[in-house]
Amino acid sequence: MTPFRTFAMVDWSGGNDTGPTPRKDAIWACVVRDGNAVEPVYLRNRALAENWLADLIEAETSAGRRLFLGFDFPFGYPRGFARALTGSDDPLTLWDWFEARIEDAPKANNRFDLAGEINRRFGGRGPFWANGLKRDIEGLPRRKDTYHNPFPDRRAVEHLAKGSFTCWQMAGAGAVGSQVMMGLPVLTRLCRRFAGQVAVWPYEALDKPVAFVEIWPSLTLGAAPEGRIKDAWQVEQVALDLAHLPPEDLARQLDVSAAEEGWILGVKQNRPDIAPPPLRNDCFALPAGVNWTPVDDALALLRDRLGPVTGVKTVPLGQALGRVLAQDVVAKRSNPPQPNTAVDGYGFAGAIPDGEHVMPLLEGRAAAGIPFDGTVPPGNALRVLTGAALPEGVETVILEEDVTVQDNHIAFRGPLKRGANARKAGEDVKAGEIALTAGRRVTPADLALLSAVGLAEVQARRPLRVAVVSTGDELVEPGQAAGPGQIFDANRPMLLAMADRFGFDTVDMGRIADDRVALRAALDTAADTADVILTSGGASAGDEDHVSALLQEAGALQEWRIALKPGRPLALGMWNGTPVFGLPGNPVAAMVCTLIFARPAMGLMAGEGWHEPQGFDVPAAFEKRKKPGRREYLRARVRDGRAEVFHSEGSGRISGLSWAEGLVEIEDGERHIRPGDPVRFIPYGSFGL
Ligand code: AMP
Ligand code: MG
Repeated sequence: MTPFRTFAMVDWSGGNDTGPTPRKDAIWACVVRDGNAVEPVYLRNRALAENWLADLIEAETSAGRRLFLGFDFPFGYPRGFARALTGSDDPLTLWDWFEARIEDAPKANNRFDLAGEINRRFGGRGPFWANGLKRDIEGLPRRKDTYHNPFPDRRAVEHLAKGSFTCWQMAGAGAVGSQVMMGLPVLTRLCRRFAGQVAVWPYEALDKPVAFVEIWPSLTLGAAPEGRIKDAWQVEQVALDLAHLPPEDLARQLDVSAAEEGWILGVKQNRPDIAPPPLRNDCFALPAGVNWTPVDDALALLRDRLGPVTGVKTVPLGQALGRVLAQDVVAKRSNPPQPNTAVDGYGFAGAIPDGEHVMPLLEGRAAAGIPFDGTVPPGNALRVLTGAALPEGVETVILEEDVTVQDNHIAFRGPLKRGANARKAGEDVKAGEIALTAGRRVTPADLALLSAVGLAEVQARRPLRVAVVSTGDELVEPGQAAGPGQIFDANRPMLLAMADRFGFDTVDMGRIADDRVALRAALDTAADTADVILTSGGASAGDEDHVSALLQEAGALQEWRIALKPGRPLALGMWNGTPVFGLPGNPVAAMVCTLIFARPAMGLMAGEGWHEPQGFDVPAAFEKRKKPGRREYLRARVRDGRAEVFHSEGSGRISGLSWAEGLVEIEDGERHIRPGDPVRFIPYGSFGL
């Protein structure tokens, strides 16, 4: 979208006509076009203001200038109010609700009566209070002593904006209750009049020529200079300030999410986990005295010690695939948004009893995207096509195959239930419901769901960055000449590819010889660029085991002797605040340790929460005796519904990793598995490979 060119701010009023002479506590507006302010405008009542706004929108949109329109009253009420009144959490439904009920004339309006009427629905002591009229209104308390509010007193943003008034107070100095009630209907009518051209912040993506934004000048501005009317001065200042803000700063201020309550522009939103605290150096410490740690205890420790480290950002749907959601996603729109027909056929009202029926067929039809403009009277039918919104008067649809059409009538056989072959509005997802939860990695199916419920962007975490280092004097790069005693580096390509499949960004740190200086430099760089480091090789306690030696030197090595096969001790440590998984050099052990330990730990750091891989009990196609005291993972695959294991358990057999399609997990105790006994098979796919 092009940047905004015109900024107009409006200081609203909930009261009556303020007369011909410009004065305070009236409606004031000021336009800044291409950076230059036009003299503030005095608008003595809302009818004039509404016309003035419509003219402004008309003028700016037809001149092709994007318009930013700020209003100084809440665009929403505290949580729960919209649903209690309208049955929907959608704030714009609440706008319509008020628009349908508010009567507004320059000298009188029904706002106190409506407040009383609303209160009476909730027991007659709240949520609204204060009555600006002389006559009493049933249910509307004048003072706060008998007042009871069934809803939260404040919106989330009002807890952060010190000095703001609640939208429940209808009268008294500074009260905004009347302004909201008298403002929302005007905004609703403008949205309707300029349908498709206005987006309401923060509920809708600002991808239209006009944006309606909630502002609150007193958030940043103090008293007006001598001789100026405060309201007039404030709208001018705010318009100038916003117009001169660099577009990226404005975009940052606009980047909030506040489903139903709305937000005040400029109040900083507290988001969870934006800057997570650094991990502690001793975060991998095992309880003292433990010798061989059972796998489950090791996992519980990782789960307990690690947390999300990645920041949050607004991401358009086109870039959201594979990203981790940072917040629950609330449906903006129901799916389906309105009742529609599931089949091609004929629609009519109600249920149809048993027997033969003939019904007159109306002219016209309803098709997907092309609604029928009219009402279908009871006892009449209308041609409807799959996906068409059900017209007024249609509840039930009969399949075209079950109908004879002749002489503008249809004939068919009952019975038919009311609602047959029709989809109810929101039967899949209702607006306001949580469509996807925080921590989810967005799938292709999620993109369909997000689109259907009206989301164009999501709050997502930046991908976790994983650095991979191979260590060992014996390693050469595949493709290079390998001398005697040398082997090709098999771990690095595998580990980089695994991290990539898990949805992380990868940093290839190459091969490092068994040399402490070189390894130290590599770890420094890796810690600078990545969130987590995977090394392979050199993790035991031998002379050439420099990974463990360096971590030891840094005072941050934990040797986890985990009771599992295949696996050597897992060296866990921190390097300049970045967790290091010192994996065994052996590729089989390196892969198993990555899947079992590093995978869930990295998922947690990436903001996904803790995931246990989904396994399945299948009959064994093999026999095996296993000693107690450690957990075993066998390279396995399923054929004809039975789990086969690789013919050798040798930990150097890389071909077995490649042959396998998953792991068979055998629990810690003693076991004698015979063919046909159930074993737990975890497909590679369950780990995210
Ligand atoms: P280490 O953990 O360094 O003692 O290595 C254990 C075994 O794994 C040795 O046989 C190494 O040669 C082998 N190894 C270490 N790193 C790799 C690697 N990147 N690719 C293939 N084999 C490796
Ligand atoms: Mg080595």
